[in-house]
Amino acid sequence: MTSEKVSCLIIGSGPAGYTAAIYASRAGLNPVLYQGAQPGGQLTITTEVDNYPGYPDGITGPEMMMNFEKQAKRFGTDIRYGMATEVDFTCYPLKVIIDNKHEITADAVIVSTGASAKWLGIEGEDRLNGRGVSACAVCDGFFFRGQDVVVVGAGDTAAEEASYLAKLARKVYLLVRRDEMRASKIMQKRVEMLPNIEILWNTETVKLNGDEGLESVLVKNTKTGEEQLLNATGFFVAIGHKPNTEIFKGYLNMDETGYIQTVKGSACTNIKGVFACGDAQDNVYRQAITAAGTGCMAALDAERFLMEREVEILAEEAAA
Ligand code: NDP
Repeated sequence: MTSEKVSCLIIGSGPAGYTAAIYASRAGLNPVLYQGAQPGGQLTITTEVDNYPGYPDGITGPEMMMNFEKQAKRFGTDIRYGMATEVDFTCYPLKVIIDNKHEITADAVIVSTGASAKWLGIEGEDRLNGRGVSACAVCDGFFFRGQDVVVVGAGDTAAEEASYLAKLARKVYLLVRRDEMRASKIMQKRVEMLPNIEILWNTETVKLNGDEGLESVLVKNTKTGEEQLLNATGFFVAIGHKPNTEIFKGYLNMDETGYIQTVKGSACTNIKGVFACGDAQDNVYRQAITAAGTGCMAALDAERFLMEREVEILAEEAAA
């Protein structure tokens, strides 16, 4: 195991992590940022971002995240590939292990690990992942041109995925488990207006069939109990996300679904020197702009914490 001491460590590279990096590097904290499993975060698998202020004509998610990264680098952030695999927040300085082989001790840690797509956990889903099963229409939709596909979910993501796929696929079945959608009215309307999207209400997925690739999807009407086999080669799961906070369990206070709890109006966690921002601590807004905002808060809180600590050390040295 190699080891290293840093002042400010940022874990995660979505809008929250990069914004924290921009502020922390400008404040002279010399931050080191580990990008995690999906450099750039969830925005790298979205299409147009039309609601981020400052881009009147919109921008693609991947391009936006490249800009975030460039900006963080411009101020000197040390950006690295790697994943935090373990932490020890019982000691100070704080300990974080990267890729099970590199130990970092840090005076301040900013957690911006984001959230990941949820899966249904049904038969065939794991086995056919990458062979018809996906959680990202933008990444994989191209492979299903002219074919029939299924989207599961009823939120904005499902509506967006179904609309995107409708441009490529011959037919899109949208499986909604209740008799209404959670998606915003405007996105629902778009789905309803597209002629090649068929919404199956009160419908859940039973299992996925196929050997080399997906061949069909067995679904069931929850009201009538009636089962139906949909012939489809693509199956897109769009049922929400879970926070990537597993390694912090037992150290940081979290809600029952794993979202980190921060002190109201700040990015401070229950551990001194550890700050949380972005989707890892937000199960309400979950927008790029709110993630960036909390990333800024985390860096400012970390800066204040490190400054106060420095003053304390100087006072102790003067008294000795
Ligand atoms: P949501 O949590 O909003 O929705 C998840 C959907 O999946 C719900 O409708 C839920 O059904 C359904 N679901 C959950 N579990 C299952 C299951 N096991 N089987 C079938 N269906 C299931 O997640 P989203 O990812 O859609 O959106 C997250 C946030 O991101 C939201 O705030 C959204 O507004 C935002 N967003 C905004 C976009 C934009 O503005 N362009 C694009 C995408 C997302 P039920 O309703 O029955 O609980």
